[in-house]
Amino acid sequence: MAAYGLSEREAGSDAAAMRTRATADGDDWILNGAKCWISNGGKATWYTVMAVTDPDKGANGISAFAVHADDEGFTVGAKERKMGLRGSPTTELYFENCRIPGDRIIGEPGTGFKNALTTLEHTRPTIGAQAVGIAQGALDAAIAYTKERKQFKKSISDFQGVQFMLADMAMKIEAARLMVYTAAARAERGEPALGFLASASKCFASDVAMEVTTDAVQLFGGYGYTVDFPVERYMRDAKITQIYEGTNQIQRMVMARSLLT
Ligand SMILES: Cc1cc2nc3c(=O)[nH]c(=O)nc-3n(C[C@H](O)[C@H](O)[C@H](O)COP(=O)(O)OP(=O)(O)OC[C@H]3O[C@@H](n4cnc5c(N)ncnc54)[C@H](O)[C@@H]3O)c2cc1C
Repeated sequence: MAAYGLSEREAGSDAAAMRTRATADGDDWILNGAKCWISNGGKATWYTVMAVTDPDKGANGISAFAVHADDEGFTVGAKERKMGLRGSPTTELYFENCRIPGDRIIGEPGTGFKNALTTLEHTRPTIGAQAVGIAQGALDAAIAYTKERKQFKKSISDFQGVQFMLADMAMKIEAARLMVYTAAARAERGEPALGFLASASKCFASDVAMEVTTDAVQLFGGYGYTVDFPVERYMRDAKITQIYEGTNQIQRMVMARSLLT
């Protein structure tokens, strides 16, 4: 398993403001600092860690390193207690004079942040895919439930108010799915200028997932608000897709920037 360490407590959306340092010592690198919110923390064998190698160069002074779980000076914090996504452990990572061999730098010094941004163009559609999956699960559950649940001596799916909600949910999911597929296909083909669509697919699909899962809870009525049915979990899990891999405000900034340059 692998993990990816970019974010820090004080450097989330503004990831380039990170403070974790890597200094050269002979043939080795020595890492000091901490990373925050790292998925697979404690489970991964290898961690890609971003650290400042040249503080005078801002984003161009950040490099990427491969840290092994057994490296001396590397430790993992306690698991965060989260609203959702509880199947995926999230922890802090600590580096205290963590010495790693010189060849564990990924690429040239100073290219880490640029590579991280390029990586996001490929990984953001995968968050969109996660969002589409959660939304589809919620829709499937809502269709089955509304057919079965009876009020006023009818299935609630016979009511036009419910039908229109289901139709809207399915329509939005389909649009999100197509956008995610297009973004993923373009990324796979290695096409240039992927930024707009990578952000749009992640942002649109995660906003759809939040809307659809909230509507699914609504369609389950009071039962939707209990842990006895799956839709409350879908709603909690949908929320993270609007936050990580860059919040949806950041995605909108990326989209606007690509429109205006
Ligand atoms: C469960 C989970 C797993 C994660 N996994 C990883 C991981 O594996 N690796 C990793 O490196 N990181 C990971 N993250 C970190 C995640 O990417 C960050 O939480 C996210 O980028 C936001 O940073 P922040 O939490 O510091 O929020 P902040 O940056 O403090 O943002 C707070 C609010 O301010 C808004 N905001 C900030 N700047 C602007 C702006 N310029 N304009 C408009 N609004 C703005 C944000 O959109 C947000 O609404 C994970 C986070 C979570 C919760």
